[in-house]
Amino acid sequence: MGGMNWQVGVPLSNFTSWRVGGKAEFLALPRSVAELQAVLERSQGLPLTFLGAGSNLLISDRGIPGLVICTKYLRGVRFEENRVYVAAGEPLPKLAWQLAKRGWGGLEWAVGIPGTAGGMAVMNAGAQGGCAADCVVGVEVYTAAGERQWLDKADLQYSYRHSQLQGRNAIVTEVVLQLQPGQDPAFLVERTRQNYEHRHRTQPYHLPSCGSVFRNPPDYAAGWLIDRCGFKGYQLGQAQVSELHANFILNLGGARAREIYELMETIKLKVWEQWAILLQPEVKLIGDFSY
Ligand SMILES: Cc1cc2nc3c(=O)[nH]c(=O)nc-3n(C[C@H](O)[C@H](O)[C@H](O)COP(=O)(O)OP(=O)(O)OC[C@H]3O[C@@H](n4cnc5c(N)ncnc54)[C@H](O)[C@@H]3O)c2cc1C
Repeated sequence: MGGMNWQVGVPLSNFTSWRVGGKAEFLALPRSVAELQAVLERSQGLPLTFLGAGSNLLISDRGIPGLVICTKYLRGVRFEENRVYVAAGEPLPKLAWQLAKRGWGGLEWAVGIPGTAGGMAVMNAGAQGGCAADCVVGVEVYTAAGERQWLDKADLQYSYRHSQLQGRNAIVTEVVLQLQPGQDPAFLVERTRQNYEHRHRTQPYHLPSCGSVFRNPPDYAAGWLIDRCGFKGYQLGQAQVSELHANFILNLGGARAREIYELMETIKLKVWEQWAILLQPEVKLIGDFSY
């Protein structure tokens, strides 16, 4: 299976923010919906895995069988009345700045989230009081069979870091956002800058991570629970719990997915023992983690 946009045996560590992960059996990087359709046509029968910027993924060292489709090169932003039509691969930080400068309010919260628009819509990503569910009107998806569908916000059934798109065999190609045009760009840019600076003060951006590893359980911040168990700075192989924010695990250089996975299990066990709270991962685990 040759071809320009279909590669064989590609290390996915180059496609995740944690810089870990084994090989994709096949990897496709479509640059347009037409290319995506061509890829889907050739993929009949192969298991499919979807990737945006890979900023919320722990991919097994053993890699992923089948076809991995990465949507980060689907680009384009279109404005219509109070709606923005964003191709799935658009980087969120870039989009947040672009909208603020244009005087379109409503996405200033997203500036510190290093994912794509597609990944945001799937994860219901959020920060600083905002989240995808506040502004997503709906998404265009393609099914594995290559069929185009429109899913309304109601179909997505948004809740905390969750949507119906998770684990569904549909690939997001476009995200439609409803925002507030006609606002003062200087005000929006300032708010975006403050959000950006706050994030860089309170979270570690200097080493590879996936952002928050665990979901916040009701009533507590996961980072606080982990910190109170004494984990800040704790290291397993080349994976380390951040000194700055205990819900971040950093790759100090050359960490394996297995090390990160085992560190997560260690944290879960200790938090369970100390707090009787079972932490659930926010990061998506992909591939084989049976050790
Ligand atoms: C430093 C750092 C800070 C972060 N801060 C935050 C934060 O404040 N708030 C927050 O919510 N998250 C945060 N994250 C996590 C992450 O950025 C978000 O979850 C983001 O929405 C993921 O987008 P992505 O494009 O990287 O998706 P990926 O990680 O590539 O994928 C995430 C999920 O979406 C699916 N997916 C991605 N693209 C598509 C598509 N086109 N079609 C179908 N499925 C798709 C994948 O299969 C997977 O299940 C942070 C991460 C880092 C590294």
